[in-house]
Amino acid sequence: MNAIPREPWREPPIGLLAELTHRCPLACPYCSNPLELTARERELSTEVWLRVLEEAAALGVLQLHLSGGEPTLRTDLEAIVARARALELYSNLITAGVGVSERRLEALAKAGLDHVQLSVQDVDPEGCDRIGGFKGSLARKVAFARAVRALGLPLTLNAVVHRHNLDRLERFVELALELEADRLEVAHVQYYGWALANRAALMPTRAQLDRSVEIVKAARERYGDRLLIDFVVPDYYATHPKPCASGWGRAVILVAPDGRVLPCHAAPTIPGLDFPSVKDRPLAWIWHESPAFQRFRGFEWMQEPCRSCPRREIDFGGCRCQAMQLLGDPEATDPACSLSPHHARIRALAEAEAASAPPPFRYRRLAEPAAAVPA
Ligand code: SF4
Ligand code: SF4
Repeated sequence: MNAIPREPWREPPIGLLAELTHRCPLACPYCSNPLELTARERELSTEVWLRVLEEAAALGVLQLHLSGGEPTLRTDLEAIVARARALELYSNLITAGVGVSERRLEALAKAGLDHVQLSVQDVDPEGCDRIGGFKGSLARKVAFARAVRALGLPLTLNAVVHRHNLDRLERFVELALELEADRLEVAHVQYYGWALANRAALMPTRAQLDRSVEIVKAARERYGDRLLIDFVVPDYYATHPKPCASGWGRAVILVAPDGRVLPCHAAPTIPGLDFPSVKDRPLAWIWHESPAFQRFRGFEWMQEPCRSCPRREIDFGGCRCQAMQLLGDPEATDPACSLSPHHARIRALAEAEAASAPPPFRYRRLAEPAAAVPA
């Protein structure tokens, strides 16, 4: 492997993704959390999280994304939100919205919460329950979304789409309009963590993808003045890779429930990298100087075709974790790129999985064997 850059990185991160807990009432088979989840006893204390926010603000972070697992399972969430407000960090709550009372939501709003992002697993009640492994989930989510809007908080609906719910994409748009969401994020599953373990159960066909592109285009034309629609395509069918996490250690800093600091969710799947903890090191040192964050900054580590490609400053060679998990080499061109010599094989794999009967889901669960339910 190449040497890391010697100079500390100068730019600050824009966003801090605070993964407050891995606990969650849902069990989505595409969850981006790692297969080995952090137990409650190993979660950071309130005191450490409040210090992390201080350090993040001093580092130059502007946005705080409160995530998990389900962040509302932390009873100290109001204190964390209040500290974010005091530090002038824009706070965004990323939630499944199934166990949050109106009173709790009011308390969070009062503490200074700025924005809510609600996941909706499906617009069909049975489909929603089946993906999340939680009965009656859609009705609870709809009630939660109405309570968010009644408090005047901005709302984003997050729709993760795959072979089992793509045929209802138009209804996702209708639901977002009905709930007066400001934004709808239509994100095809990205295959990391639990999603990678469930790839064959989730992979859409090329025809489903093409149809989703048409639906999003039509919805943007029709409702563009009322609803902002973001769209993320599945890597395996892409022509160019996404600039994963806006580039390794460039825009986002993630603190995991146990305190490890990461450039993205999947980074620990790359062997040989030692990710420091906020318990041992200042956030500023970890961001600017730690070897793990320096590892894939700049362009010196790149192989061809990335090294001499004009798009290297746009997508940074794609995702290091995907190169690792599909090719066993974190320095390789992301095989989602059509210029990768491995791209055709990856595309063929996706097409073969999408054409086969879906295997049972492997549900994401904390500290218990994953259950198999027919997909
Ligand atoms: S993807 Fe599903 S299981 Fe994972 S944190 Fe979100 S709601 Fe919970
Ligand atoms: S060759 Fe590398 S830099 Fe060029 S488009 Fe593909 S992944 Fe991006």
